[in-house]
Amino acid sequence: MSTYRIQGATGEWEVVIGLEVHAQVVSQSKLFSGASATFGAEPNTQVSLVDAAMPGMLPVPNGECIRQAVRTGLAIDAQINKWSRFDRKNYFYADLPQGYQISQLYHPLVGEGHIDISLDDKNPEADVKRIGVERIHVEQDAGKLMHDQHPTMSYVDLNRSGVALMEIVSRPDMASPLEAGAYLRKLRSILRYVGSCDGNMEEGSMRADVNVSVRKPGEELGTRTETKNVNSVRFVMATIEHEASRQVDVLESGGKIVQETRLFDPDSGTTRSMRSKEDAHDYRYFPDPDLLPLELEDSFIEECRASLPELPDAKRHRYENALGLSPYNAGVLTAEVETARWFEALLAETAARQNKDEAAVAKQAANWLLSELFGALNRLGRTLEGSPVSPVAAAGLLGLVADGTISGTIAKQVFEKMLETGDDASAIVERDGLKQESDTGAIDGVIAKVLADNADKVAQYKGGKEALFGFFVGQTMKAMQGKANPQVVNELLKKALG
Ligand code: ADP
Ligand code: MG
Repeated sequence: MSTYRIQGATGEWEVVIGLEVHAQVVSQSKLFSGASATFGAEPNTQVSLVDAAMPGMLPVPNGECIRQAVRTGLAIDAQINKWSRFDRKNYFYADLPQGYQISQLYHPLVGEGHIDISLDDKNPEADVKRIGVERIHVEQDAGKLMHDQHPTMSYVDLNRSGVALMEIVSRPDMASPLEAGAYLRKLRSILRYVGSCDGNMEEGSMRADVNVSVRKPGEELGTRTETKNVNSVRFVMATIEHEASRQVDVLESGGKIVQETRLFDPDSGTTRSMRSKEDAHDYRYFPDPDLLPLELEDSFIEECRASLPELPDAKRHRYENALGLSPYNAGVLTAEVETARWFEALLAETAARQNKDEAAVAKQAANWLLSELFGALNRLGRTLEGSPVSPVAAAGLLGLVADGTISGTIAKQVFEKMLETGDDASAIVERDGLKQESDTGAIDGVIAKVLADNADKVAQYKGGKEALFGFFVGQTMKAMQGKANPQVVNELLKKALG
């Protein structure tokens, strides 16, 4: 991994980064109540008496939320703590009717794990760095204040109050904005594969607290600041860049870094101080007396393990080793679970149609998906989920190329028509008469005309200018509107000119 250094007036500085990621758990209902956890409903329509903290209400842990957090822990190879406990983190804020958040400070559900990142897209295995994850604990989200609904009042929406979050706390193991970006993308990818969080940063279902400090190479860790609730990978990277150079400036001009909580302003790309950092004792943490400790049975953990899908690293290895794809293609196809799913559906259908092993058609399918389909989706501004062409329809197109019905060039035209009309490849080929001509008689006729029309060039070719061969191929193909079988054209031209 290349080293990232900030060049200061007094020499080089290293950056140290640790991320605390809040990931909203995918579950029907909230962490301690039966109210719906769905995003985007009318304000205050998904609030149970527990979420509104009515006196006498008791929280009941939602087994599904615990299960999702355990599955996430297993997916990052983490220690699962069979005994964990909920604590109250006490503070007052208008979006927190309980006056405390139920969280886990002393005994988190998930302990030490790790996430492997790479900065080398071309060969993701060449340059791997292991980032430690210190813990994952489960906690409640707060409600949301709305300051823009009324000229003089603020409103509160408690729909989010009590929704389950996983807080995924990394070690201070990242050393550049790029590493932090790679870590976040990898974490998001794993969460989506597992299905424990949708990773949607725009909707706030995944947000990061960005801890940054600087030090001279080899020195002890410096004092850090924590920039709260940064909600995109790009903003996290911008936060680190800005914060690190700000800290270098402060230190080099004789100042001290104060441990504080800061806010990122996307408009200016800078951070500003929000408040001095609280320590754990400021929150008067204590075990929540309404909840018993969580005790997990081995069978529950094993069930969680068995429910995990093939994860991105394992899938990437399989695509390289069993399917023979390049490290780069394997990396791109497995980075997002939707891409891998689409590819695997295409692969299965392509292999079935061509009556071949998946490994035999993997390159054809991968190349088509990464260049043709991704290119088209890019142009259309669509994602894979909104693709106008299904894996089955795409396999139909690839089948026509594989059995020689159409050429690769014609396949591009057919694909365009598939995008426009939603019709099957074979229907388009039939209707528009796009079948490839392999009939030697028909092609020979065209070749004879091309050579007669270009007698001068034929003479030059025979005189030794062999580069002209491509010209004759091009003219023949053009005369046949690209529908001639290129292999047959080559053979017949060689004969005719020979
Ligand atoms: P707190 O719970 O008060 O926020 P932690 O010690 O649990 O404090 O650390 C929170 C995050 O800060 C972790 O992700 C950790 O990796 C990171 N961190 C700790 N020390 C540093 C440091 N000196 N520089 C950068 N990040 C740090
Ligand atoms: Mg923190």
